[in-house]
Amino acid sequence: MMGGEQKITASHLDRTAVIYLRQSTLIQVREHGESTARQYGLAGEAARLGWAAARIEVIDCDLGLSGRTATHREGFRELLGRVCAGEAGAIFGLEISRLARSSADLSRLLEVARLTDTLVIDADGIYDLADINDRLLLGLKGQMSEAELHLLHSRLDGARLAAAERGELRLPLPAGYAYDAAGQVVKDPDEEVAAAVADVFAAFTASGSAFGVVAAFAARRFPGGRAGERSWGRLTYSRVLGLLHNPVYAGAYVFGRHRTRQQVDAGGGVHARTRAVARGQWHVLIRDHHEGYITWDDYLAIEAKMAASQTSGGARPPREGSALCQGIIYCACGRHMGVHYHEGRAYYTCRARSDRQATPDCQHASAATVDDAVTKALFTAIAPEELTLAIAAAGEVTIRRQRVTRAAELAVERARYQADRAERAFLACEPENRLVARTLETRWEAGLCELADAEAALADQLAVQAPLPEPGQLAETAAQLPGLWHAPTTSDKDRKRLLRALLGDTTLMPAGDPAKLRIGLRWKTGATEELLTERYRYFRTSPAAVDLARQLGPSVNNTDLAAALNTAGHRTAHGRPFDPDSAGNLRQYYKISYPPATRDGELTIPQAAARIGVSVQTIKYWIGRGYLTARQGPSRQWAIPFPPDVEAACRERAARSIHQHKDITRQPPTDDECSITETAGRLGINPPRIYTWIKDGTLTARRGPGARLWITLTPETEAECRKQIEAGTATRSLKPSNA
Ligand SMILES: [Zn+2]
Repeated sequence: MMGGEQKITASHLDRTAVIYLRQSTLIQVREHGESTARQYGLAGEAARLGWAAARIEVIDCDLGLSGRTATHREGFRELLGRVCAGEAGAIFGLEISRLARSSADLSRLLEVARLTDTLVIDADGIYDLADINDRLLLGLKGQMSEAELHLLHSRLDGARLAAAERGELRLPLPAGYAYDAAGQVVKDPDEEVAAAVADVFAAFTASGSAFGVVAAFAARRFPGGRAGERSWGRLTYSRVLGLLHNPVYAGAYVFGRHRTRQQVDAGGGVHARTRAVARGQWHVLIRDHHEGYITWDDYLAIEAKMAASQTSGGARPPREGSALCQGIIYCACGRHMGVHYHEGRAYYTCRARSDRQATPDCQHASAATVDDAVTKALFTAIAPEELTLAIAAAGEVTIRRQRVTRAAELAVERARYQADRAERAFLACEPENRLVARTLETRWEAGLCELADAEAALADQLAVQAPLPEPGQLAETAAQLPGLWHAPTTSDKDRKRLLRALLGDTTLMPAGDPAKLRIGLRWKTGATEELLTERYRYFRTSPAAVDLARQLGPSVNNTDLAAALNTAGHRTAHGRPFDPDSAGNLRQYYKISYPPATRDGELTIPQAAARIGVSVQTIKYWIGRGYLTARQGPSRQWAIPFPPDVEAACRERAARSIHQHKDITRQPPTDDECSITETAGRLGINPPRIYTWIKDGTLTARRGPGARLWITLTPETEAECRKQIEAGTATRSLKPSNA
């Protein structure tokens, strides 16, 4: 049957016959089952050529994978590995040029096969790669295959492009569209689907963001899949982006919106990457090709709005955070101003500052100062517009409500239709045909259940809708806008949105007076306005409160002072009630004295410590243990009644105390005192000797600051020391004779 059977040697038969199967795509696998069967038939061929059944192996994990590159094809890699390891005696393939569709992959395989003496066998014959003729033949076949593929692709692409240019190439349609019997693109005849798609665009108009659309569909399902195999599920953020960016909804026919490029990764693997192409580079764009859900202008507006909310693109959407003008405030130099926080307060700072390119006019201002001025201007601006705003809001709310219930109503209608149809089918069924009747009855029941569910959902939606306010009531609400603005339930983000609805941008400019701030406003209507405001806000306690504090301060403590200030209706500079701490701060700031700490016959703790000659800690310890009676004065200072009997008791306790010496307040050395080293130097001995003398009482020492020892040398002690040194030297000089 095959040519070249003599090329098979015992060495080949001893090794494995690897049968490698692949088909380009799953469709090929499904539609060319015959070819797959033939590929499996190769195993029989291997057996016929002499391979033992145990040595025949089939690698078929690449069935259904495109052969264009080897990156994702485990089977091809395994094949290559087996050949490299020299385990394969022969490779079987239906058509060897189809083992790999890239000639680079194929030539790598063939090169390895030559080195490992592996035969390559296909339907046409047996190739020994050590033979130059066989090698040339296989190489040629590989290149022919690649050229054929290239021609096929370009012919196909050319035909597709030509059809696309006429708008006739049938492309997969997104949800909301279907092909009619004549092959024309029409809106999905299923009204629920069409309504859901239309509502996505309406929700975007209302909320201005893709997240807003997701939120609007939180309790609602969205169609997926194609018409005919429809599935319903959650509307995700990425899906919303896809819908908003898809020009098909604007009635346009587009071909070539994405391009696939092959990229080489670091490991040499090849991957296909699909990227969106800029609108100017789309292959085909035919506007007004079919009925749109939005107009082309709407499409462009959505695109612009989406681009504006992309932070990476330099646009600045409103964020959480208290700085109201964030994102729409500019410096006099023309740059954006950033928001910086310092000790809990927000500041607008020109970005040039951080770039070290600041000009003398560059601004830096407290966000609260700017925001207060801008908010005041905002309220002035909207006052005449209140009614207009209120009426616009009323209209929009009504429309939005209709949209929500419309979807639920359509779902009920559809369920009713399905139930009716199931009922008719059941009634039309011959009673004798019991099996069929039972199935139809079940379907009818299921239809009725679905109808009940849909009706319940509609009832739920109607129930949760609060009644719409009367127009008069709305006007009242609009008038309360300043109140709503400051309400704790209003988020900073809402305030920013409202501000941005009317205000285009703000610019901070230098004013002649450095204490003033000039704020330029550009309203969305095109009107401009300039505000001049104090740059700094001073926080001062009211003079009346200070006066009262001066009066009472010298006779009461901070707790009583705070209570008195609060009772008189005074508040701190920041508008809060006084507490002992803030009263204390006030006292300190205005240098208001405390009530005197001690009365006649009383001593403070430091005074008592000095009198007895102990440390402050010792006195505190005595008070704590109750050995000493004391009272705390208005400024929380201790006052100790100190009559002579108390003093005598203290002296006695101090004399008895064993810990007391540690507590003595350490005094710095006097001129008469010497350190250990100094004493040792004066006597001409080593310092350790001094320590010995302090221990045995020859010398007296006291501890000064840092616990250093200080010695007072009197003529007597010095003489005693010298005597001991001499005696010591004599003892040492006798030692050798003693030994
Ligand atoms: Zn600047």
